[in-house]
Amino acid sequence: MSASLTATGLHLTLGHNHVLRGIDIHVDAGKTTTVIGPSGSGKSTLLRVLNRLYEPDQGDVLLDGKSVLTEDPDKLRQRIGMVFQHFNLFPHKSVVDNVSLGPRKLRGLSKEEARAVAVEQLEIVGLSDKVDTRPANLSGGQQQRVAIARALAMKPEVMFFDEATSALDPELVKGVLALMADLASGGMSMIVVTHEMGFARTVSDSVVFMDEGQVVETGTPDALFDNASTPRLQRFLSQVL
Ligand code: ADP
Ligand code: MG
Repeated sequence: MSASLTATGLHLTLGHNHVLRGIDIHVDAGKTTTVIGPSGSGKSTLLRVLNRLYEPDQGDVLLDGKSVLTEDPDKLRQRIGMVFQHFNLFPHKSVVDNVSLGPRKLRGLSKEEARAVAVEQLEIVGLSDKVDTRPANLSGGQQQRVAIARALAMKPEVMFFDEATSALDPELVKGVLALMADLASGGMSMIVVTHEMGFARTVSDSVVFMDEGQVVETGTPDALFDNASTPRLQRFLSQVL
């Protein structure tokens, strides 16, 4: 079941760097919020605070209305699936073993049950014919699909994507974006950090523009892309569109 996620007033300082300066962000259950903004604006750090890889100095994070800051971080990270730019698959394990490892170790499924879950997820991402191969025999786009299947096999309530297509060869980007769009329309709650403005515009329910650790604008895709109200977003869009 998908959950809503709300964060309010998040602040985080790393070293001498005040990286997050009062961030509010929300995604409704089953909806997609996209985060756009220049490099260094704090997007990746924000995702890390939302799943408690970093503890915020101030602010709160609510999953389905309940603060997660008192929850066991390991349990929380099982509720949030994360997909990164670099897929970090285990090279010496088969595709299906990569995907079934989490369900076995963290959800306590038997080997057979975990394999069944993994095969099912690999079907969903379009890789039923690659179950027993090694990651090195797959394209970057297929490897990223395995990483997505690995996250889905944990039955997360929310999925985070951090520039999931940025490391892919251009011809492989579309397929991964199409899979992400399918997940979104299938009712997964998603927070998607991306430079793919077409995806942000057509798939998101809500867009957040971050700059220098703050949310500068937030709203529907049409509101942000057609009626950017701040010079900072106007300048950013003129550089990326
Ligand atoms: P984005 O994902 O938007 O490119 P990041 O969240 O990676 O931005 O980084 C935001 C800012 O935080 C950058 O200025 C970066 O240098 C700084 N930063 C990230 N991690 C650390 C850290 N561990 N210590 C100090 N500064 C950091
Ligand atoms: Mg980043």
